[in-house]
Amino acid sequence: MPELPEVEYVSRSLNTLVVGRTIVSAELYRPKLAPATDPRQFAALMADAAIASVGRRGKHILIGLSNDRTLIVHLRMSGTFSVLDPDLENPKFTHAVFHFSDGDRLVFSDQRHFGMMKVVDNADLPAAKELAKLAPEPFSNDFSEVYFREALSRSSRNLKEFLLDQTKVCGLGNIYASEALFAARVDPRIVAGALSKPGSARLYRAIREVLREAIEHNADLPVDPANIDANYFSGGNSSGWFVYDREKMPCVRCKSPIVRLKQGGRSTFFCRVCQRNRRNGPMTV
Ligand SMILES: [Zn+2]
Repeated sequence: MPELPEVEYVSRSLNTLVVGRTIVSAELYRPKLAPATDPRQFAALMADAAIASVGRRGKHILIGLSNDRTLIVHLRMSGTFSVLDPDLENPKFTHAVFHFSDGDRLVFSDQRHFGMMKVVDNADLPAAKELAKLAPEPFSNDFSEVYFREALSRSSRNLKEFLLDQTKVCGLGNIYASEALFAARVDPRIVAGALSKPGSARLYRAIREVLREAIEHNADLPVDPANIDANYFSGGNSSGWFVYDREKMPCVRCKSPIVRLKQGGRSTFFCRVCQRNRRNGPMTV
């Protein structure tokens, strides 16, 4: 599933490609993509609106319309946008099409069928359930070290699951959570509320660092309008991720084998030596 840096890449790409274009009609091919409206309502809410902006909140893409509405999009597992000219056919799993007045169209395809769209009035946007409970953006002033420390202190879950909770920390998924924990040298099994103060400070910095590094990498990638693919940036060195998907491979720091374990039904990858929890609190596993 795309995480914050990948969604940022898609958002920035769309911002370049579609802002200023006018939607003359919208077709919802898979009604469950936007369950709050039927296809006719969905189309009516966007007809003749220009795209004023494309932004992001957490892992949601926000497409701002000139009619004071916003299209909220979650890519989930495999949602992909394409901007196509009339000569190009729709991709195989096309679930929504937005026809522009200039003849081009914006297409949303989704092989796995988990994507989500919703049109809301801008006045209702802050209260939309998709956004209302999200933690502060990781690069905002509200996501301070004090905020992070307080959120940790109130949680009895392990650190890995804590980091995946979008109401506590916004934007991390399975990959960047594992990478941030490795960068901070903290054990993913520690109870969040028991993390030491130095560990908390390191983890706070690591979250922002791994996200920033990936966003900056993605910013240099070429954009293919026909396939605005949120490719993962595979880690901070040329050989790939530091820990993610590296089970039994040597740790880049200490050479001991990377361990994989299940937390909350998801795989966590970590180094038992670099991330040992000496001086930290109890563990949940
Ligand atoms: Zn190590």
